[in-house]
Amino acid sequence: MSDEASAMIGEDTVLTDEEEEYLADAITTLETEVFVDGLGHDHFRALDENEGSREEWQEYVSRMGDAGFNAISVPEAHGGPGGTIIETVLAEQAIGYCGNIVHACQTSLTQHVGRTMYEHGNQHITEEYLEPMAAGDLVVAQAYTEPRSGTDLAHLETDAEKDGDEWVINGEKRFIDFAPYADFYFTPVRTSGEDGDREGVSIIVIDRDTDGIELLQDQSDWHGFRGTGASWMQFDDVRVPEANLVGNEGEAWSYITDELNLEHLTVARYCLGASQQALEIAANYTANREVNERPVSRYQAVNHKVAEMVTKLDGAYLLNTRAARIMDDRGVSAGRMESAMAKWLGNELAHEIADTCIQIMGGIGTTTSYPVEQTQRDVRAGRFMGGATEVMKSVVQHDAYQLLLDEEFDADLVGNEREGLPWLSEDEQPARIADE
Ligand SMILES: Cc1cc2nc3c(=O)[nH]c(=O)nc-3n(C[C@H](O)[C@H](O)[C@H](O)COP(=O)(O)OP(=O)(O)OC[C@H]3O[C@@H](n4cnc5c(N)ncnc54)[C@H](O)[C@@H]3O)c2cc1C
Repeated sequence: MSDEASAMIGEDTVLTDEEEEYLADAITTLETEVFVDGLGHDHFRALDENEGSREEWQEYVSRMGDAGFNAISVPEAHGGPGGTIIETVLAEQAIGYCGNIVHACQTSLTQHVGRTMYEHGNQHITEEYLEPMAAGDLVVAQAYTEPRSGTDLAHLETDAEKDGDEWVINGEKRFIDFAPYADFYFTPVRTSGEDGDREGVSIIVIDRDTDGIELLQDQSDWHGFRGTGASWMQFDDVRVPEANLVGNEGEAWSYITDELNLEHLTVARYCLGASQQALEIAANYTANREVNERPVSRYQAVNHKVAEMVTKLDGAYLLNTRAARIMDDRGVSAGRMESAMAKWLGNELAHEIADTCIQIMGGIGTTTSYPVEQTQRDVRAGRFMGGATEVMKSVVQHDAYQLLLDEEFDADLVGNEREGLPWLSEDEQPARIADE
């Protein structure tokens, strides 16, 4: 893949020169220092066969730590590279583009888990987890989803009770990427309150080797996004030091929503990066594949699809960059509507692009000769993972209606438009109405 093609397809006037350079450098670094020597394309294929190993994930996070891609927006004083949210999403785009979706996922975890630890964690959390994770010494997993609580996270049933200077944790989590490979689990639990309450949710960091943790079921044989060892887990009287609480007891709901606000951008961005790679392959393939003695790309039905995809892709990158810029300016809790816009549009589009690429490539696109079919499977989960499209649209409509509704709009005239047009003031009513 060329570096040139990896920024937006059209001219990018939104990123600064330094930011564009960051993206180009990130791609070069990933291609020459990370996805080589045992972590290249054979490894990608092996991951898709669920043949990952703990050693490989340790090697991956270590290389990413050396390259400065873990926990990018965490300041140097807390072990991070001290970068920006814009750099964070650009790095995620680059990993999706030239790596594999599950690599982007592991690094994405370091971004939002790392940011939450930086903003709310105590010294113990910083020294034992944040700094080593940023350095690439620890693999992280995020254990949010439960058998009876997914999108509706406030209904989580895993609870933690204080016993002396320890937390005792009981419950189950499922679909947890990196469960067998991670060094620690970043885990929301209920410490007080009732089912569905936002108050009373806390986050506790749980070491992988703690007694009472059991992986009940390997769930990694799913549609795409394979190679993380995703598992259904059980915590049975798992004892954790009280210092492993992130922030204040019972106040983690806002930490989680802030964390998800950033995750919306990283998940969308790495899926878009992956779909861009598929798009480049499909464009090249169709320009060289002949049907009826003319390149497939010469058929308007095909090249208009490419036109639509590149246009929408640029739009999705712009939305994503805007939301990242808002977070750089005002913090990761800012720009919820803009982040939700970027999430649903980006993730729906990534899947649409990958699927359309298979369509215009025909049968070969469904084989493993090209990575396009894997991308189509890999990006599918992005449409609900880390924030379902439906939920994102609910966020957008809520905020959008606040902005769109006009107090001047005359509700009494709705259905009575013969007497006046509700969207016009009294002075502006058309003459025919004023005359009646
Ligand atoms: C590949 C993959 C990797 C994952 N990795 C992790 C991980 O590492 N850690 C982790 O904790 N979890 C992980 N998950 C779980 C993922 O976050 C959940 O699948 C997701 O949050 C949705 O939860 P659910 O599957 O329980 O669906 P449900 O909550 O049961 O929702 C099902 C569907 O209902 C609809 N829906 C839900 N809520 C609303 C609403 N408010 N309005 C309208 N429609 C709605 C949506 O279409 C949604 O997809 C992963 C899942 C996959 C597939």
